[in-house]
Amino acid sequence: MSVYVFGHRNPDSDSIVGAISIAYLKNQVEDEEYIPARQGDISAETQFILDKFDGELPVLKTSVAGEKVFLVDDSDSLLFQDDIKEATILGIVDHHKLGDLTTNAPLEMWVRPIGCSNTVVYEMYKSYGVEIPKNIAGMMMLAILSDTVIFKSPTCTKVDTKAVKELAAIAGVEDYKKLAMEMFIVKSAVDGASARDLNTRDYKEFNMNDSKVGVGQLEMVDITVLEPREEELLEDMRKMKEENGLHTVLILLTDIMKEGSKLLVVSDDESKIEAAFNTKLENHKAWLDKVLSRKKQVIPFVQPQF
Ligand code: MN
Ligand code: MN
Repeated sequence: MSVYVFGHRNPDSDSIVGAISIAYLKNQVEDEEYIPARQGDISAETQFILDKFDGELPVLKTSVAGEKVFLVDDSDSLLFQDDIKEATILGIVDHHKLGDLTTNAPLEMWVRPIGCSNTVVYEMYKSYGVEIPKNIAGMMMLAILSDTVIFKSPTCTKVDTKAVKELAAIAGVEDYKKLAMEMFIVKSAVDGASARDLNTRDYKEFNMNDSKVGVGQLEMVDITVLEPREEELLEDMRKMKEENGLHTVLILLTDIMKEGSKLLVVSDDESKIEAAFNTKLENHKAWLDKVLSRKKQVIPFVQPQF
């Protein structure tokens, strides 16, 4: 029976590349067949990575009951298929807080508080002594540069920078920072995107003491292009809150050059968000200097307010 490897809903580059890099590794060392999969459409950024390094699009897998699965880039049931609890989880590779998924049988877990799941995968290759193919090395390198915002994110560690350098050498990429900037420019494109497209481009829902909180993030090289559309984004956030029974919707417009995020807030209780960030909202907005990481600088501060 095959094993499907996939990352979280609304797959980002780490989830897609992780599925590819883990499946390849497992196919070198295990008898079962590992198949890279995904739960939804890929982003323009991920398409850029696949195009650049000849990557194959993982298969779409929206239902997994009765299947064997291997998870990457999260361990929270909310972020996986609705029937994930009816699947057999063989392993988890991640760099987030531990989620609520549990298993009936022993599993393999590779979880570290570092910048990217693909850095963890890189260490797995090392520990198995498996050589990383050139094209997979290139994709892993860009996934790490995406998750760490070209090393600027506070989630980035020495392990990540070292992995990028070694992967760049394998992939034959000299100026990896230049290639990463090209990738972020592709990621920044907003022309023709609806407010909903933008709000959900990189969006996750969290269960905070039985209140649902949605947090979206747009990482851009210049967020001022979205200034004329902020009211439209807020209006759509109100709709998202209504449609999904959320307590709070937060959207972070992250400016990777100015190294901070403009926070947009729609909430039943804005004072929780003001307290979380020790700030005052003005027209449901606030600038959060140096805030680049949802997992490290947003969720850990919002969660205790609930
Ligand atoms: Mn991710
Ligand atoms: Mn990640």
